[in-house]
Amino acid sequence: MDKIIIAGAGYAGVVAAREMVKNHQKVTLINAEPYHQLTTWLHEAAGGRNQVDDYKIDLRELFPQHEMELIVDEIVNIDWKNRRVSGSHGVYPYDYALIALGSTPEYFNIEGLSAHSLPLKSLETARVIRRHIEREFMRYDEDRDVTHLRVIVGGAGLTGVEFVGELAEWLPDLCHSLKIEDSKAEIICIEAMPDILPMLPNHLRDLAQRELEAVGVRFMTNSRIVRVGEKALELESGARIDAGTIVWTGGVRAHPLLSDAGFTCDRKGRAKVNQALQSVDDAKVWIAGDCASYDWAGKPLPPTAQLATQMGKQSAINILHAIKNEEQHSFTPKIYGTLASLGPSRGVGAMVGIRTSGRFASLFKELTKVKYLMQIGGVRMVSRKRRAHLLQV
Ligand SMILES: Cc1cc2nc3c(=O)[nH]c(=O)nc-3n(C[C@H](O)[C@H](O)[C@H](O)COP(=O)(O)OP(=O)(O)OC[C@H]3O[C@@H](n4cnc5c(N)ncnc54)[C@H](O)[C@@H]3O)c2cc1C
Repeated sequence: MDKIIIAGAGYAGVVAAREMVKNHQKVTLINAEPYHQLTTWLHEAAGGRNQVDDYKIDLRELFPQHEMELIVDEIVNIDWKNRRVSGSHGVYPYDYALIALGSTPEYFNIEGLSAHSLPLKSLETARVIRRHIEREFMRYDEDRDVTHLRVIVGGAGLTGVEFVGELAEWLPDLCHSLKIEDSKAEIICIEAMPDILPMLPNHLRDLAQRELEAVGVRFMTNSRIVRVGEKALELESGARIDAGTIVWTGGVRAHPLLSDAGFTCDRKGRAKVNQALQSVDDAKVWIAGDCASYDWAGKPLPPTAQLATQMGKQSAINILHAIKNEEQHSFTPKIYGTLASLGPSRGVGAMVGIRTSGRFASLFKELTKVKYLMQIGGVRMVSRKRRAHLLQV
């Protein structure tokens, strides 16, 4: 029997695995952790909402033993010429592989950025950020240095904006619990480009900025970070800002294992795929999600969960076709739009052509969460996450 492996149990990998199971196809899922991370909600976990561990789902809960072989291992090498991937604990040969290892932070060679900032990329990084902010705020009691109470977020794309929205809600509560005057806490979002949320129409960007400024967020657009040191950064203008916490959300690039493996990659390290999502280097390897470079309307698709899930599903379908010697199907992305939360009860965005803001946008965003949980774990998963207060519908 053909051996199929899926490397990575993120948005693309889990949806692909679900498709395989639905088609009674045996498959091996390899992931570094025994759980799936709800990455698109991690700004909530990092920003003090709920318990961090509620933002993960045990892979065994999604895929019981009889449905799927699960290997928890960190992949360290992809040897596509010899059809095997190696992990820290073993070597896994395959006949067909789906690589869906996601992305890592892009630091753009900014001096000191990777060493002195905290990325928001995984459950563990969300936990680290949350603890770091709590500790910094507690340290204020020791020396009364307001630098401890200043949080800088680098990047005003979706992740950065959603995170400052959470901070604006959480930090006043944190101050109250530590008996600190909440006006002393500062949230600064620094962006090199002229606008925040570049994927949204102008008036929605402006609305998001105004709403967040009204709750205390300070935006510095057209401000390029050129150097980062311990608890301080420097802008191109020469200005220096001290801060107890510096979080970096300014960009991602594909997992480095793709370029290390010798796949043909674009400038963001994403491996190039054909219309059927097969690697341009090897037709027995499909690549999906943030680590795939799929050209659409003249440029590679952006790294989003929305597209990762679609690519995961299409890759699984095409692998099933390959096994049966059937024709490969072209991938047609459906780009529904973007919804950005601005804290727990407000949002802004444009979805399926409908522009929305405020409470209604927030509700829309909650419904996208329900849809995803339904897709991977059915009603049971929706009600479990609802009980953990992750859903507000
Ligand atoms: C805070 C935040 C908010 C976001 N909000 C949105 C949003 O609202 N809408 C949207 O569409 N997108 C959003 N995104 C982007 C979205 O999360 C990513 O595009 C999506 O997760 C990509 O899916 P993927 O399957 O390619 O990779 P991932 O979901 O990152 O999955 C990769 C998997 O591979 C595993 N892995 C990595 N390296 C190894 C290794 N060496 N060995 C074994 N396993 C490994 C990881 O543990 C993980 O399980 C957001 C991202 C963040 C950080």
